[in-house]
Amino acid sequence: MPRIEFYQKEVKAWFLDPKNNFTEKELLFELRKDYLTGHVSRVLPFRRRRFSENETPLEVLAASQKDCPFCSDKIFALTPKFISSFAPEGRIQRGRAVLFPNSFPYSRYNWVVVLSEEHVIPLDRFSNEILRNGFLVAQEGIERLRKKEPELKYSSINWNYFPQSGGGLFHPHLQVVIEDSPTTSHQTVLEGLRKYQIEKGSLFWEDYLLEEIHMGTRYLGKQGNIHFLIAFSPRGVLGEITILFSHRLSMGELTVDDWEDLSQGLIRLFRFFKTQYIESFNLAIFSGNGEGVRSWVYARLCPRIVLPPWNTSDINYFEKLHNEVICGVYPEELCKELKPFFT
Ligand SMILES: [Zn+2]
Repeated sequence: MPRIEFYQKEVKAWFLDPKNNFTEKELLFELRKDYLTGHVSRVLPFRRRRFSENETPLEVLAASQKDCPFCSDKIFALTPKFISSFAPEGRIQRGRAVLFPNSFPYSRYNWVVVLSEEHVIPLDRFSNEILRNGFLVAQEGIERLRKKEPELKYSSINWNYFPQSGGGLFHPHLQVVIEDSPTTSHQTVLEGLRKYQIEKGSLFWEDYLLEEIHMGTRYLGKQGNIHFLIAFSPRGVLGEITILFSHRLSMGELTVDDWEDLSQGLIRLFRFFKTQYIESFNLAIFSGNGEGVRSWVYARLCPRIVLPPWNTSDINYFEKLHNEVICGVYPEELCKELKPFFT
């Protein structure tokens, strides 16, 4: 018997269909529950929207450059510097990436990484070098802080790309958050891992990965030691990609090669999104181990959209207030569509 239960329940709904002389119509959807966290999604394939266009107009992108504080003519005048005891150079740079404190911090240590001088980089134009250096400079900041304040062991590297996902500026930038306790979703993962470890005596991530590889219906492939999967119970309307850094137990352990591999995998995802006219996403990379709990470093990525014709948000009352996600695509179908980009 498999150690991990993939809970799914088929649900039916009926109505008299105005598009077909009010004859009875049956609709099918699924409720799914994530084994580790209990997260529930409702997979409604009849809600799937495919786009032949839905991209931000060029004139909007051009206008957004005028007051952009991250563009190269303003970044060093308009963005904050670190206090000198932390980084005497003010801002930490690697290649074209620049790390500095967030002007509007969400936590005591909340930083921004501007990835390059380019104001807009279309999703299919990110280079491995730009992404890798962005992640590396974030990691360098995290490691510097860890040496000064080792109790701050919970870090994440996050990305809202484009306003559809909550991004305040078009200019590509990451955000780093470092705290002495895990955020709520990371805490839920750590509690699930602890429970699994006690009940089954093994690391959930390892069993889950082996199970998904064995089944193959949601496993995309790997880049180096980093595995890319479609989440069984997704957190986004267009599904979720789960990324597992196998054999890496903390952010500090990641090597240059790991960041290269992550970047290459992201580039594969971005190429697929471009073919679907998806131009926005949220990404979070979570540090691994918690207090007495063994974990791998893991990441989640959810594509984001607004719906025409009124730019309707892809988050509604179900997600906002009931904490359950409406997803318009079967994860197994998404996997089939994405897999060619990983082979
Ligand atoms: Zn800019």
